[in-house]
Amino acid sequence: MLMNSLFLCPACKAQLRPGARFCSACGSQVPEQLIAAAPPQSAPLQEQYTAPPPGSLPQYGMPYAQQNPEAPRSEAGYGLVPYKNGQALGAYYMGCFSFVLPLLAPLAIIFGVLGLQRAQREPQVKGQAHAVTGIVVGIIALGLWALLAWSWISF
Ligand SMILES: [Zn+2]
Repeated sequence: MLMNSLFLCPACKAQLRPGARFCSACGSQVPEQLIAAAPPQSAPLQEQYTAPPPGSLPQYGMPYAQQNPEAPRSEAGYGLVPYKNGQALGAYYMGCFSFVLPLLAPLAIIFGVLGLQRAQREPQVKGQAHAVTGIVVGIIALGLWALLAWSWISF
């Protein structure tokens, strides 16, 4: 602090702010050697706060990733969804959409029968539940659309 108070303008002897390039009193340029002699007080503090230790961010991310090992649901999904039985899977989805598109209802039943036959022929393919769901939903959708068509015709 005593050093800064001795940092004076060479032209008018007014006290200068540390690191100032021009005198605030007279506006004359401060010589380079005077600026170098009085470094700004805040510089060492700023360096401490602006530079975080390198590698601190990956260390924070590591434990979180380690807490999430292989999800057990992926194995259950393989058993539940018959990826290999396209007919059964197709029947299931066509059954779902047959409530929107009536044309899909008979297709869901046909594909459901085909998927069911394939599931019985090749047990490792699976998809029996999906095929049966497709048939049942297809029949329900077909019945609902038939009922709707009948009500339109009769009234
Ligand atoms: Zn001055």
